[in-house]
Amino acid sequence: MTSDKPRNRPLAIVVGGGPAGLTAAIALAEGGITTVLVGKRPAKPDNRTTALLAGSVTALQTLGVWDHCVAHAAPLKIMRIVDDTGRLWRAPEVKFDASEIELEAFGYNIENRHLVEALERRARALPTLQIIENEVSAVLPQADTTTVELKDGVAIHAELVVGADGRQSLCRAAAGIVIDDRHYPQVALTVCLRHSRPHQNASTEFHTPTGPFTLVPLPGLRSSLVWVLDPARADEFASLDDHQLSDKIERASHSILGKIEVEPGRGLFPLHVAIARRFADKRVALVGEAAHVVPPIGAQGLNLGLRDAAAIGELAVGAHRRRHEIGGADVMAAYDRMRRSDIGTRTLAIDLLNRTLLTDFLPIQSARGLGLYMIDHIGPLRRAVMREGVAPAVAQPRLMRGEAL
Ligand SMILES: Cc1cc2nc3c(=O)[nH]c(=O)nc-3n(C[C@H](O)[C@H](O)[C@H](O)COP(=O)(O)OP(=O)(O)OC[C@H]3O[C@@H](n4cnc5c(N)ncnc54)[C@H](O)[C@@H]3O)c2cc1C
Repeated sequence: MTSDKPRNRPLAIVVGGGPAGLTAAIALAEGGITTVLVGKRPAKPDNRTTALLAGSVTALQTLGVWDHCVAHAAPLKIMRIVDDTGRLWRAPEVKFDASEIELEAFGYNIENRHLVEALERRARALPTLQIIENEVSAVLPQADTTTVELKDGVAIHAELVVGADGRQSLCRAAAGIVIDDRHYPQVALTVCLRHSRPHQNASTEFHTPTGPFTLVPLPGLRSSLVWVLDPARADEFASLDDHQLSDKIERASHSILGKIEVEPGRGLFPLHVAIARRFADKRVALVGEAAHVVPPIGAQGLNLGLRDAAAIGELAVGAHRRRHEIGGADVMAAYDRMRRSDIGTRTLAIDLLNRTLLTDFLPIQSARGLGLYMIDHIGPLRRAVMREGVAPAVAQPRLMRGEAL
């Protein structure tokens, strides 16, 4: 990113340079909208990885980003769910194979640092996009424009502001949008690892009584781990030395990847679920975690965020071509409508699935087991679940279908 002042008055400002904000900025600028992205560097490095599902990969290809990602990404051909709760009512193991729905892979797993680097590289090549490394201190929506003030006192005005400033979104507060937020008694421990046996491009999600323990392939003999634990155990495991932690992981994974060696860098993420009551208002459209947060189950969080970015890009570029205002009330309402069902249904489904893991209530445990049994045994149901998991049946933004804006 560069420290700078805006070159010209832009039509759009994106606040936040994470993966959702960068994607929104590229989509807007590719569609001919002069855009300024203002982002501050995150406080600490992000050691997480993202399983990008097929539609997200198509969108990144369409935006000219994927070529910069491909060397760092591993295909996900098989996804397994293993009930490791040790409870009386245990679900059968369910295995999803991408070839069953005529896909080469459900998607690709990539380290977040490589994904952000690839997006920044593409963003820097677009003449209609300027990146300013700074912190936004205030967002002031007005009737015919919105003003964004930077920490150094510079003010920028634009028709549309895209709020991609994460969980504690300043943009969301400025637009007066309320978010419903619930915390879980869980923390995700994240780490990348090397292993002695090949992963065969299979991701495995062990469902444990504290939450999922998920291994996702990276290129070569490497994988990423998201281990959802109760807060005390997450702290305890995070403070183990490399040898002790590798050992714990090897045992928890039932040695399916052989000998484990953790790599440097660990993350701890308290889990919660949050959904904004509106996704756009007063010339501010929310994307990514500014709009919704889900626990890391089934690789949905950023995939939803990229669909938000693609949707606001599509609507704003459409309005711009019709010579309409890109931040007007009609665009705000259309964006809210376009994203509501996708975000609402996925947030609800992930929340329910997570809660069935935490409950000791036998009828709920058996209902979960029965659900997974049916998915495993009924082919058309399994294929429908796979298709819906990869992409929503309705309201897929155009970029996810490979159509340029
Ligand atoms: C353990 C874990 C595993 C996950 N795995 C997956 C997965 O496999 N697949 C998937 O799809 N999703 C996954 N997710 C979700 C995914 O990581 C998030 O959805 C994603 O990182 C959110 O991106 P974002 O751009 O919305 O927000 P962020 O990455 O939080 O970016 C927000 C940016 O805004 C900047 N910012 C904030 N305030 C300001 C300000 N005032 N001025 C300027 N800049 C500002 C911040 O510095 C930051 O750079 C996972 C989440 C967790 C916790």
